[in-house]
Amino acid sequence: MLYLKSIELMGFKSFGKKTELVFGSRISSIVGPNGSGKSNVAEGFRFVLGEQSMKSMRSKKGEDLIWGGSPALARQNRASVKVVFDNSKRLLDIDFGEVVIERVVYRDGQNEYVLNGTQVRLKDVIRLLAGANIGGSGYQIISQGEADRILNASPRERREMVEDALGLKLYQHKKAESERKLEETGNNIEKTKSLRREIGPHLTFLRIQVEKIEKARELKEALAAKLSEYLARENAWITQEDARLKEEVQSLDEELRDISAKLQEARSKRTHGGSGTLSELQSKIVQCEAKLTDARGRSGEIARELGRAEGALERNDVMVEQIVTVPHVRGFARELDSAIEEIERNDDLQQVRNILAHLRIRIRSFVDGLTGAAPVTNAEAKREVDDLNTKLERVQAEQNRITSEIDGLRSKMAETREEGFAAERDIVGLEATHREVESKKNAFNAARATVATLRLRFEEEVREGIALIGAAVHAWDKNEIPPGALSEDRSNQEKRRRETERLKIKIEESGIGNGDAVVREFKQTKERDEFLARELEDLEKSAASLKEIIAELEKTIDIRFTEGLKQINVALHDFFQKLFGGGEAKLRIEEPHRPSRQGLDVEDGDEEDEMVEEEELYAGLSISVSLPRKKIRGLEVLSGGERALTSIALIFSMTQVNPPPFLILDETDAALDEANSKRYADMIKELGQKSQLIVITHNRATMAAAGELYGVTMGHDGVSKLLSVKLEEAERVAK
Ligand code: ATP
Repeated sequence: MLYLKSIELMGFKSFGKKTELVFGSRISSIVGPNGSGKSNVAEGFRFVLGEQSMKSMRSKKGEDLIWGGSPALARQNRASVKVVFDNSKRLLDIDFGEVVIERVVYRDGQNEYVLNGTQVRLKDVIRLLAGANIGGSGYQIISQGEADRILNASPRERREMVEDALGLKLYQHKKAESERKLEETGNNIEKTKSLRREIGPHLTFLRIQVEKIEKARELKEALAAKLSEYLARENAWITQEDARLKEEVQSLDEELRDISAKLQEARSKRTHGGSGTLSELQSKIVQCEAKLTDARGRSGEIARELGRAEGALERNDVMVEQIVTVPHVRGFARELDSAIEEIERNDDLQQVRNILAHLRIRIRSFVDGLTGAAPVTNAEAKREVDDLNTKLERVQAEQNRITSEIDGLRSKMAETREEGFAAERDIVGLEATHREVESKKNAFNAARATVATLRLRFEEEVREGIALIGAAVHAWDKNEIPPGALSEDRSNQEKRRRETERLKIKIEESGIGNGDAVVREFKQTKERDEFLARELEDLEKSAASLKEIIAELEKTIDIRFTEGLKQINVALHDFFQKLFGGGEAKLRIEEPHRPSRQGLDVEDGDEEDEMVEEEELYAGLSISVSLPRKKIRGLEVLSGGERALTSIALIFSMTQVNPPPFLILDETDAALDEANSKRYADMIKELGQKSQLIVITHNRATMAAAGELYGVTMGHDGVSKLLSVKLEEAERVAK
């Protein structure tokens, strides 16, 4: 069964023209003169299998891989190598009976990979080949002069080659993948943790805020209850107090109106009972007194006449011709004289007139007395007496009337005077009362002003309440008037007011407004934190499971490696003995050495464990050699041939445990003498049973071991050409 069906080179290095090698034998040998292009074929394999090291293809850059042109054949712009695998046994994990892998490189260094006609990534190619134990460190393509590469390699590189040969690459890939994921997970864990750390203080801050808001909310509820009771009481009290005071003021107004009316009355009384009326009365009295004087004068005269008449009646001898007596005339003269004297003394015109009127009457009656006829008879005299008596009575009655009139006027005057005094007293009293009532009214008005101030304060308190706790404040409106609100001591209400003030201050001090936004933010932040915590848990779980997977893989690698190494050592012992006719070679796991960590005071135990694991994992492989009959150990002292033999033994033994589908050996036998070339050829045959071999050689023994031979030649055009040759021709071709 041949896995490798063919290789086609086009524009690759010296293969300026399309050249195809079809493999028909388990061992194919490529022969040809120096510089004809044999090694370019081996490098063609490296190239198509995804080699990234230009050096291992003897180039500096991609362009060097492209046919550079010759006078005969122009240079090309691309080099391509195509390899065809028989995949009927599903060597490669892909559902095709035949797998064609092609790699193209362009002059600009651009690469293309094509898998069964579809462009793919390098990664895809490498993964596909690794699954079939192809590729990797390239131990299966041994380049010219590189036979002892495995000897020169560092212990670590050597270990990688062995791991590759044991087919552990796949596990290494998986492990690397898991490690990458673990690192990513670790980064995500760190990121998540740092996000939580970032959120942390804010969340704490918000929590404290929310607690404060809760507290403030409680305070607000308390305030709402207190305030609504206080406001209901205050409103009721103010309303009532204002109504009461208003009523008081109204009744005082009425009282004042009443007092004013009385005052007006008293004042008018005082005016009408004043000096005007009194002087009228006084002048009336004077008139009456004049009349009285007149009446008195007349009554005196009548009385005198009566005396004379009565005397005449008694004498009864009254003569007709009466003689006027001297005393009578003298008496009359005296009367006149005193009247004149009175006039002279008096300034009052009225009285003077009165006296004069009286005088006229006296003069008339004296004259009458002179001319009057004397009563002739007693009867006449008697009649005269009677008449005079009647006259006298009448005058006296008049006198009495005038006297009583004067008395009346006098008492009227006293009365009027008294009335004036009383009115004055009343006015004084009423005015005092008026002032008193006025000041009472002022006091009530002042109280009303105070109540109005309280009303303003009440309204301000309502507004303030709304600002602090919202419309809930209006609850006071619906509250019934609390019992005792109108009668209780105001100090109770003052106490309530102080309590609400205290609550208001506390709410204001809390400095929290509505707080809804903060509560919302707290909720969101908390949710985010919880989400991050869950995410962290998930990440930690997946990190743990990745660690488990890695540990599992490491265990597998370790077991397989240890086991494989044992088997390699068995084969190595065998090949070495065959090649050297004795002696011993062995691969050993080197003790992990950590010089850089020695003497360091490492406190973090975990970290150290990790480092140790890493070191152990990459504990390299050392080779110990002991040659038969020679007391030498160590690679440094081996001859070139001995080195070649040792590395051949090593490479071959490595292929025994997990044989690769094919192996390419480019003049690995170059340094061997004839005897060793024979042994080499035998071993090639043995290997050929497990892996398909492509052997580039100048050795006849090796050629003889191959089932088919290809000759590579190069003409003057510089282009490598390929031809199938027989063994007999081969040696000629090779020269
Ligand atoms: P030997 O037997 O000496 O090892 P060989 O047969 O292995 O020789 P190669 O090394 O494969 O020979 O071929 C080298 C030849 O390929 C050289 O002549 C070199 O000029 C030619 N060559 C290499 N790269 C290119 C290129 N890009 N274009 C043209 N020719 C190239």
